[in-house]
Formats: sequence, structure tokens, C-alpha cells
Amino acid sequence: MDTLPTVRLLDGVSLARTLREKVRAQAREVGGRGFPPSLRVILVGEDAASVTYVSSKTRAAQEAGCLAETIRLPADTAPQRLLEEVERVNRDRAVDGVLVQLPLPPGHDARRVFDSIDPNKDVDGLHPENVGLLVQGRPRFVPCTAAGILALLDAYEIPIAGANAVVLGRSEIVGKPTAALLTSRNATVTVCHSKTKDLPAACRRADILVVAIGKPGFVTSDFVREGAAVVDVGINRLETIEQAPEHLRHSPRLAEALAKKGRALVGDVDFDAVCRVASWITPVPGGVGPLTIAMLLQNTVDAARRRQDNRIDPARTRGDDR
Ligand code: NAP
Repeated sequence: MDTLPTVRLLDGVSLARTLREKVRAQAREVGGRGFPPSLRVILVGEDAASVTYVSSKTRAAQEAGCLAETIRLPADTAPQRLLEEVERVNRDRAVDGVLVQLPLPPGHDARRVFDSIDPNKDVDGLHPENVGLLVQGRPRFVPCTAAGILALLDAYEIPIAGANAVVLGRSEIVGKPTAALLTSRNATVTVCHSKTKDLPAACRRADILVVAIGKPGFVTSDFVREGAAVVDVGINRLETIEQAPEHLRHSPRLAEALAKKGRALVGDVDFDAVCRVASWITPVPGGVGPLTIAMLLQNTVDAARRRQDNRIDPARTRGDDR
């Protein structure tokens, strides 16, 4: 009789703890040579999830020994005013890293905002110069979630070179940079999206399946090859069982979380079902999420080090170096 693989968890919490310790030591070293690494997070509006993310980011940066501040702008901030604020932090000699929290309120053009960030301070890795460097296989700042996914695969020694990797979702922030990183690590990469034909069959080719689409429990066991490693990037907040798709409504874990807290976080993968076929899987929460923050801290320390080491092309530096 065939036996199913035993699933193992890709534990982002413990890896993030280790990485944050490493970053703390690096931040101390940078601080010992002058100033501690410094981060500015710009938040426009009051979106509840964004407020939580931003406070986790600044708190984590402070705990790692960085100087971190949130610049809060009201929801009705004019697009031009936001660009001026970005320009101000670009020029601020005391700032190493800048990020603008997404999503922006309606009326703002996120592309224009990312284009305006000094590429040497772009710790989210979304400026076109940094995207280009990543695609060319010579990354400067890698978008944090994508970097976290690769760190997780590496920490658990999941072979990447030669593997069939499928990335479901093609956002600028997760899907595309993850596909670029996997390509540069010699995986054979397929990117799937809402127009992909026979999605389950395309995903079943994956030895490594990365899912980032923002649809609770969308990926069922039908999408997963036996023995695959499944990385679930999705973070979906549910407050009622009716917000879950039909097939998740019988999950005792979901019912329990909703009964206890009145809300639950679920990924894009039907965890209970996929556990029966995959070899590796990330939990939600506790998988990719904590690594995103750890990688932001790493990018901030790297930005500070690059400035200290004067490894910045002066023509590209809009602010003055310390
Ligand atoms: P996004 O910008 O909304 O993009 C979603 C992608 O999924 C698009 O490429 C879209 O295809 C594709 N898609 C949507 N519905 C689909 C369907 N039914 N079939 C196939 N493809 C479909 O998403 P994102 O910003 O990458 O975020 C995705 C999820 O990850 C969200 O739950 C988000 O909260 C989470 N997230 C987590 C972290 C973390 O730290 N763990 C970080 C960032 C994001 P098209 O391009 O064809 O429209």
C-alpha cells in the first residue's frame, strides 16, 4: 500500500528569531562605527491592517537596535504632498532606509511613489532600479517577502537548483520577485495567475509551490503534487465563517479561532487538506509573515552599511552622505 508523505512545518517564527539576532549584532556593529541604522516608514491613512503592520515593523526595528520612526499622514493627503514627504526623507542625511506602506488610499499612484524613493534607501526593493538589478541576478535590495521565502527554503535545505517551482500570483511585491530569485537559483520557474488555464494541473508540476493570491484556502490538495514543498504567503482575515469558502467551513481550527477571538487568519492554502499530500508546508500565521519583517531589518542594516562603506554611486545619491 502507498504511504503518504509525512508533512513537516516550515517554521518562520524560529527562523525569524535567529535572523533578527543576527541583524541585531550587525546593527550594533554599524552603530559602533557611527550612527545606528535608521528607518522611516511612511503610512498614509488609517487602514487597520496597515497600522498593525507598520507598528510591528517599527517596533521590530527598534528591538534590533535601529532608529525607526513612523511618519503618519492623513488619509486625505494629496499625492503631491506624499511625493514631497518621500523627497524630504530621501534628502535626510540621518535616514538609511525608507518604505511607504501599501495599500495607499485611492488617488495615489503607487508606481509613481516607488519611482520617487531614493534607490539606495529603498528597503522594500520596489524601485525599478532595484527590480532591474534583481532580475539581472545582482540584487541590491530584495523585496522582503520574497527574500524571506528563499531564506525559509534554504534553512530547511529544500533543493532549489533543478526543481520545478511554480509561483501562483504575479504581484510586484511577492510573485514577480520570488520568481526572479528562484530563477537565479536555477529552479525551472512557472508563474501562474488569474488567466492561467487549468491551474490545478499547472501547480501539480511543482516541487516547490509558492502561493500568493489573497484568496482564503484557494489551493486544495488537487493543486499539490505528492511530496511538494508548499509556501503559503496569503494572509486573509476572516470574521465570520461565511467569509470562508465552502470547503473551509468545516475546519475545526477555523471554527475554534472564530469562536475564541471573533476573527481568524488563514492562508491561501487549505492547510488541513494540503498537509495530507505535501512534504513541507508553512503555517499561517507563523510561516512567511515573520520573515518579511526580519528581511526588512536586514535590508535596513545593509542600506546603512552601504552608506558607511561608501559603496553608493555618488551620482545616484540624492541626499548627502554622512
Ligand atoms: P495581489 O497584488 O493582490 O496579487 C494577487 C495575484 O494573484 C495576482 O497576480 C492575481 O492574478 C493572482 N490571482 C488572484 N486571484 C486568482 C485566481 N483565482 N487564480 C489565479 N490567480 C489569481 O497580491 P499580493 O500583494 O502578492 O498578496 C497576496 C497575498 O499575500 C495576500 O493575502 C497578502 O495579504 C499576502 N501577503 C503576505 C505577506 C507576508 O508577509 N506574509 C506579504 C505580502 C502579501 P492577475 O495578475 O492575473 O490579476
